[in-house]
Amino acid sequence: MQKFETAKAAALSMRPDVPVYCFRPDVLVEDVTGFMAAFPGDTAYAVKTNGEPMVLETLAKAGVKIFDVASPGEFAAVRDVAPDAEMLYMHPVKAQSDIRLALETYGIRVMALDHEDEVAKILRIVHALDLDPATITLFIRIQTKGSAAYELSKKFGAAPAHAVELLQRCHRIGFKVGICFHVGSQIQDPETYERALGSAHWVRSRAGVPLAGLDVGGGFPAEYGRDPKSKKPDMPGIGQIMSRLRGDIDGWGFSETPLVAEPGRVVVARAFSLIVRVLLRKGRRLYINDGIWASLSDSWTGKITLPARFIPDPARTRRNGDAKVIAPFRVCGATCDSVDILSRPFWLPETVDTGDWIEIGHIGAYSMSLRTRFNGFYPDTFVEVTTPFDAGGKPEGYASLETMGE
Ligand SMILES: *Cc1c(COP(=O)(O)O)cnc(C)c1O
Repeated sequence: MQKFETAKAAALSMRPDVPVYCFRPDVLVEDVTGFMAAFPGDTAYAVKTNGEPMVLETLAKAGVKIFDVASPGEFAAVRDVAPDAEMLYMHPVKAQSDIRLALETYGIRVMALDHEDEVAKILRIVHALDLDPATITLFIRIQTKGSAAYELSKKFGAAPAHAVELLQRCHRIGFKVGICFHVGSQIQDPETYERALGSAHWVRSRAGVPLAGLDVGGGFPAEYGRDPKSKKPDMPGIGQIMSRLRGDIDGWGFSETPLVAEPGRVVVARAFSLIVRVLLRKGRRLYINDGIWASLSDSWTGKITLPARFIPDPARTRRNGDAKVIAPFRVCGATCDSVDILSRPFWLPETVDTGDWIEIGHIGAYSMSLRTRFNGFYPDTFVEVTTPFDAGGKPEGYASLETMGE
C-alpha cells in the first residue's frame, strides 16, 4: 500500500479519478485500545462494521482477542487473520447449516438467540456432534428501547417475560446462559444503556438462574461532524458515555457478572477517510465519483453528518466566487439512480469546482462493508495515511464540522 502523510498529499500526487480510502492504522489502534481500557469487561469487535483484512489484522495485533461474527464469511475472515481469536456468533437467527459450521469447524461456543425454535436448532447440532451443552454459552437477546441512528430492537430481541422463559429453558437443558442486547448503532440518547441494563436486571431477577455473562452489544457513538444549522445539543463524548455505563453497571448490580461489549463503529470510524473527486459542478450541486450505493450509504439517512475537507486542484487557475465564503452544496452520487443523492449538504468554499477533491473523514464504519457494484462502480483503492483526519488546524473547507481542530 502506498503511504502518505495526509490525504491531500495522496490526492495531489495520485490525482485520482476513483475514490481512494485512506487507512490510518495508528488511529485504529488508538481507538480500540482506548475502548478496551475504558470498558470493564471483554471487547469483541463487531466484524460487520468493517471486515477488511487490514482492519482485522491491525485489531488482532493491537490485542483484540474476541470478534463478534454473524455469518460463515465473517468466521472465515477472522480465522484467516487471527487463527487463535475467539468468535461470538451473536446473530439471533441462524441457518441450521451455519450453526453446524460454527460448532464443528470453527469451534465457536458462544451464540445468541431470541426464540425457542432457535434453541431447538442449536440442540439438534449439539446432539449430532455429541457436544456437552455445558461447554456452550447461549445469550438470550432482549428487546431494548432507545434512540439510535439505526434502531435495531424492532427486528430482534425477546420481550422480558419471554426472555425469562428462554433463560430458564436453556439453563434446564444444561447450557450456560447469558443476557445480551444491542441498542442499535450510533446511540443518540445517553440514557439508552441504562434503560437496557434495567431490563436485563428485571429479566435476571425473574429468571433466577446463574448468569455466565452480560453482553451490552454495540451502539457506542463515534464522533462525526456538526451541521451548522442543527439546534440539537451535542451528544456526550465516548468518555462520558463510558463512565456513565460503568456507573449504571454497578447501579444495576452487574459488576460481578462477566461483561462483554461488541463495539464496531466507535472503534473503526476514525480510522479511514475517503478522497472523492468532483466530476461536475452544476450551480450548487456537486456530482462526485462515490455515493449511497458505494461508500456513503451510512450517511443517506441524514442522521450522520460527515466531516469533509476541501482539496482544490492546483491545476485549476481560474475560479469563481470567494474562497472564504462557505456554502452548502448538494452532493449527487456516481450512479444513474435518482435516489443517489446525499441527504445532507456539504459545506465547502464557494470556489469548489469540477476536478477538485473532497476528503470525507471518519468514514471507517459501514462504508466499505456496504458498498455495492451497482452500475459498475466499486471503490477499492487504498492508501495508508499517517496523520489523523482531525489533526492540526482547521481544515480549509468543511462539511458541517465546525469543531474540527479546536
Ligand atoms: C452491528 C452490531 C454491533 C456493532 O454495532 P456498532 O453500533 O457499530 O457499535 C454489535 N452487536 C451486534 C449484535 C450488532 O448487530
